[in-house]
Amino acid sequence: MPEGDTVWNTARVLERALVGDILTGSDFRVPQLATTKLAGWKVAGSGSRGKHLLLRLTKPAETPHTLHSHLRMDGAWRAYAPGERWSGRPSHLIRLVIRTARSVAVGYHLHEVALIPTAEEGRLLGYLGPDLLGTDWDVDEAARRIAAHPDASIAEALLDQRNLAGVGNLYKSETLFLRGLWPWTPVSEVKDLGGLVELAQKLVASNRGRWTQSTTGLLRRGETNYVYGRRALPCRRCGAAIQKADQDERITFWCPRCQPQND
Ligand SMILES: [Zn+2]
Repeated sequence: MPEGDTVWNTARVLERALVGDILTGSDFRVPQLATTKLAGWKVAGSGSRGKHLLLRLTKPAETPHTLHSHLRMDGAWRAYAPGERWSGRPSHLIRLVIRTARSVAVGYHLHEVALIPTAEEGRLLGYLGPDLLGTDWDVDEAARRIAAHPDASIAEALLDQRNLAGVGNLYKSETLFLRGLWPWTPVSEVKDLGGLVELAQKLVASNRGRWTQSTTGLLRRGETNYVYGRRALPCRRCGAAIQKADQDERITFWCPRCQPQND
């Protein structure tokens, strides 16, 4: 599940593979950029903001540009050595290939692929709330943005990237479990919004630098989460069967005993 940590890790993969080098070729397999050629551009930086990936490109006498992509639920980037077999995903899912003398970066099932002047990144990303893994992370600002919509459910508020950028379904479900909050609780009834977003940030940040997304502190398969992906399995704390339901077109997992509905 690509969430803030996955996107952050992916930016580091692209950084190691590409940054500092000149592109020797590119192959865009998305209609809006089918004729774009990036050979000759230098990869100056690789970063993430929330769930958005940003490759910064420069070239003498040209305006610096940013290559933007979004992983949503199913996208991925892989880096290979020249000549190495591309083992990541089926080839029909490839949306973009970029090459340097020492690496080939292949983007699978990417969304929102766009090439924009770097100075215009704000136009694309300005709506995002504080980035959980950014240098500008701001607990109070994230809590303030959530509190501005008191009737929203707390689960919906955590997923809304305008409030804070980087939480997806997994960290949403796990954060609410750890705070004992029923996912449909209105924002107005959550006592400590600052503590809640601080916990979400800690969970996401704790998984930087590895691909296993653990919220329990355990890395063994089947033991990494409290509720996410554990429908009908016993709660690790109380033994009740974990529930799963649709909520605002997303999926929510929760423990009915540890996260009771208040009425
Ligand atoms: Zn429980």
